[in-house]
Amino acid sequence: MTKKETGRGHLRVVEKSAQKTQPGPQTYRPGQFSTMFDLTGKGALVIGGGGGIGGAIAHAFADFGARVAIADLSLDAAQAIATSCQRDGAEIAVCRSIDVTNPDQINKVVGEIEAELGKIDILVNSAGINIRKDVIDYTPEEWFRIINTNLSGVFFVTQAVARGMLARGYGRVISIGSVSSLMGHPQHSPYAATKGGVAIMTKAMATEWATKGVTVNAIGPAYTVTGLITELMNNPVKYHEIIETIPMGRLGRPEDIVGAAVYLASDAASFVTGQTIYVDGGRTAD
Ligand code: NDP
Repeated sequence: MTKKETGRGHLRVVEKSAQKTQPGPQTYRPGQFSTMFDLTGKGALVIGGGGGIGGAIAHAFADFGARVAIADLSLDAAQAIATSCQRDGAEIAVCRSIDVTNPDQINKVVGEIEAELGKIDILVNSAGINIRKDVIDYTPEEWFRIINTNLSGVFFVTQAVARGMLARGYGRVISIGSVSSLMGHPQHSPYAATKGGVAIMTKAMATEWATKGVTVNAIGPAYTVTGLITELMNNPVKYHEIIETIPMGRLGRPEDIVGAAVYLASDAASFVTGQTIYVDGGRTAD
């Protein structure tokens, strides 16, 4: 490997010779790819893991062999998911209460979880809120609550966890963005600002850590049936309006999101960074 200045002024670490990447017939042994999604031996922290999407991802990580820690506003919710994610022989469930709007608390809680788990190889940022209103009706408190939870929370949690990842030279950061990372919808302006921010912050962090073994990606769900959209589910008119915007003709389910999360957490995605994968029934393809 050698350092090289790129046209855009970035200093890149590049392979010295093209030999290794030259095209040609390859030989692959039977079963070579059969464990590429395996997460055995990995420590995973799911922030917002007491919620619908985070909870589903936590269970999938456990099924693929990871030891999972859960942090959420509600300790009871975190405890329930952490317990249900314990697999054969695992010790005590690792869970904590966390408020991602409080950077000091984040550092403390991440330190405690890291000590208990041994290491955090995989981080999922799934804490999030929304308040739907016309632009002119938002109060400053509502704006800052959404920004502090969905955007600043992702930044400060990632910062706290990445210190260890960078020191060990390995990490997978996965943030839950939204179709609102890409599209504008009425009554979503602060939420869209946070989700657009998550997508571009993901790219910035990805480029900074690309040669340090830490990948940073996001998942962009469309409307998914969790507590976050209870209000919409209870409004038949709104519900039908939303369904009509989704080419597959249904809302997402938390289980729809887990495949992308396992992929991004695994060796299968070792050359993928800075991306948002939209899991949206075709919503952003329309
Ligand atoms: P849930 O409400 O089920 O989960 C979100 C979790 O985040 C809850 O457990 C919530 O706790 C927790 N949380 C809220 N505020 C904080 C905070 N300050 N500190 C720590 N935890 C907090 O919703 P989803 O699972 O649907 O949401 C997960 C992510 O997916 C969010 O980022 C959301 O924006 C995103 N998303 C969701 C979509 C959907 O339609 N459901 C669509 C696109 C993206 P509590 O319940 O106690 O408030």
